[in-house]
Amino acid sequence: MRTRFAPSPTGFLHIGNLRTAFFAWLMAKKTKGSFTVRIEDTDRAREVEGAVESVLRLLHWAGIAPDEGVMLDDAGKIIEKGKCGPYIQSKRFDLYRKYADQLLKDGHAYRCFCTSERLDEMRKKQEKLRQAPMYDRTCLELDPAEVEKRVAAGEKHVLRLKIPREETITYEDKIYGPMSFKGHTVDDQVLLKSDGFPTYHLAHVVDDHLMEMDLVIRGEEWLSSVPKHLILFRAFGWKAPEYAHVSLLLNPDRSKLSKRQGDVAAEDFIKKGYLPEALMNFLALLGWNPGTEQEMFTIPELIEAFTLERIHKSGAVFDLKKLEWLQGQWMRKIPAKDFADRIKPLVVARFPDAENDASFLQKATLIQERITFFPEAPDMLGFFYDDPTVGIDLIANPKQKVEAADVPKILEILKKSLESIEEKNWIKDSIVAALDAAIASSGLKKGQLLWVLRASLTGRAYSPGAYEVAEILGKERTLERLSI
Ligand code: GLU
Repeated sequence: MRTRFAPSPTGFLHIGNLRTAFFAWLMAKKTKGSFTVRIEDTDRAREVEGAVESVLRLLHWAGIAPDEGVMLDDAGKIIEKGKCGPYIQSKRFDLYRKYADQLLKDGHAYRCFCTSERLDEMRKKQEKLRQAPMYDRTCLELDPAEVEKRVAAGEKHVLRLKIPREETITYEDKIYGPMSFKGHTVDDQVLLKSDGFPTYHLAHVVDDHLMEMDLVIRGEEWLSSVPKHLILFRAFGWKAPEYAHVSLLLNPDRSKLSKRQGDVAAEDFIKKGYLPEALMNFLALLGWNPGTEQEMFTIPELIEAFTLERIHKSGAVFDLKKLEWLQGQWMRKIPAKDFADRIKPLVVARFPDAENDASFLQKATLIQERITFFPEAPDMLGFFYDDPTVGIDLIANPKQKVEAADVPKILEILKKSLESIEEKNWIKDSIVAALDAAIASSGLKKGQLLWVLRASLTGRAYSPGAYEVAEILGKERTLERLSI
């Protein structure tokens, strides 16, 4: 299947659009087809500098780089590749004009000279009468000779599509199912603006045909425009692609996910430190489900499992908690050595001693089980490098059933039992054995003893386990920290 993603470079890439792009990419990969990126920059006024590059960088980061169309080369430069180029609409204006002329000649389009003032007035009247806003076809009635005269005189005008009003237009959406539109409810869409620039409606139909698209996956905001597009395909004598319209993303209160309610720019998720594996896994599960309990998917697994039939047409709630959970899960999957290499510069920046630390890998492995984002690493590992200040208010903890009055006694028991381990036997197993013996003889609960040990060694309520920390700290430093 040939699929495409067709962003307009008008600003940041909305996270929902990244999902749409991903679905299109997945369908191309699943069918061993090709994924094209086309830049829809017909609205030059709204163009934002650098937007194309940032969209492409995001797709590359996400692992869904295009096979064809506009992409980044190895040096990060924007290039175009493929047999159907150019893939940037502003380079194709002559082409759209040629096809617009053909529609005019064949009677599928007509010139409209109505000024914006007249159109505003018309709309106001329609509003008063509670009619749907729609062009009233004044210019369709014009005498052809008069039209010629006005064009020759250079009068400003647009080109409109002539919708067959008596017809019912039907098609089967891959997500929404059978759809049907009465022709009289569809507006005569502007195809060419008065400055000769095409609208989205004309440009993308021409492009989807010439670029041989089999399937168009796009946001549901385009659903109501499908009849216009199908009529255009038919007017040209072309076969229309299949359509799959993807629902909106929603906030937990089911309002539309928008900038006001937090981050919606895909870029923000990179900045926050999300792994591409986690973000793409999360996006795939927004509105799609595999029909099983599986939640973690690699990209190859998604290619295998993904089907359009399992995408819901109702809006998908953007559940940040789930995204964070997936992020944690994907952090655990990173090979230990890679994980240590990723966090090392961050930790060294705060604790220079980490640079030549022979047990850095061991330490990193301890926090890999708990971390959500890389930048948390220095905080999580800090107690290995700087002696923590540990107050009684941390150690005495009712939840752990440790009273302030008992702390000196527990510290003594810990010290005594750990002192008995020979330096050369200082490994986790011996520490466990020594503490088990202390628990048996003292009558203390395991939880009490381990809490006091852990809190004293790390100075933190949340940290890796006591045995592991003690093992890495070594006998001397462990006993030192118990002596405060
Ligand atoms: N340029 C359109 C947009 O960004 C593309 C819609 C489509 O995929 O056809 O909404």
